Amino acid sequence: MYKIGIDLGGTKTEGVLVDEEFQVVERKRVPTNQNNGYESILHTIKDLVNELKNSETTSVGVCTPGALSKESGLIKNSNTQCLIGKDLKNDLEKILDQEISIENDANCFALAEARLGAAKNHETVFGVIMGTGVGGGLVIDGKIHSGRTNIAGEWGHHCIKPNGNYCYCGRNGCVETYISGPALEKKWNELTNQNIPVAEIVKNSQEDAYKTWKKEFLENFGLSMANVIDILDPDAIVLGGGLSNISFLYDEGKNLVYENVFSDTVDTPILKNQLGDSAGVFGACLI
Ligand SMILES: [Zn+2]
Repeated sequence: MYKIGIDLGGTKTEGVLVDEEFQVVERKRVPTNQNNGYESILHTIKDLVNELKNSETTSVGVCTPGALSKESGLIKNSNTQCLIGKDLKNDLEKILDQEISIENDANCFALAEARLGAAKNHETVFGVIMGTGVGGGLVIDGKIHSGRTNIAGEWGHHCIKPNGNYCYCGRNGCVETYISGPALEKKWNELTNQNIPVAEIVKNSQEDAYKTWKKEFLENFGLSMANVIDILDPDAIVLGGGLSNISFLYDEGKNLVYENVFSDTVDTPILKNQLGDSAGVFGACLI
């Protein structure tokens, strides 16, 4: 039994065909062209599925940006804006003439890392995305736990400072306004007047401003991750997204998390993802 997994991203759409052991038989990557609108995205996915399909293929899973409304199935909060308000699952099923599974990208990431990646063999896994935005997904016993209204894992809009930074969601002090890539770049700009990406900022370890920037980053990371551990007490946390490449999160960052947890015996592993950019397509194969 073969499976096709499609990862619909803002700039590229990737598809894989895998066998029963989740070994990749074929992989294809095409530009998303979201400027050409929703219909173009549907056709891009259709073409990818048809190119990857072999006679034994039975399932198609799609990993999409944005949340899926539990009531209507429509996509909301997507940074690929032409998807907002669309019934992507139904529309793809019509155009492909077969049933498909669909899940948001943070849940696909958590599922892939829990089943095939860094957190393999752990029961309760919290997958964290830290990049342009901050999000996450929860996997329990190898299955996504999406919650009553599909918001489980959305720790990026958890408030860590009641009168803190304004967030686009309309509230103040959300985690995302402190430890997302853009938030960390904004903070660096306030301290130094430089506009540089996080990957460049972390090369400035000799500067005084760096000590201030890093201290605040680690305190906010520690507090926000500790809140997740206090509520879930997961067996493992896996970090993904662009900021997961920052090495100090796994030692100094982890220590700050432990200091903030309500327990004197905390030892939750905080792991770097193993699947990298491929978590989306593997997650899509697993849903
Ligand atoms: Zn928010």
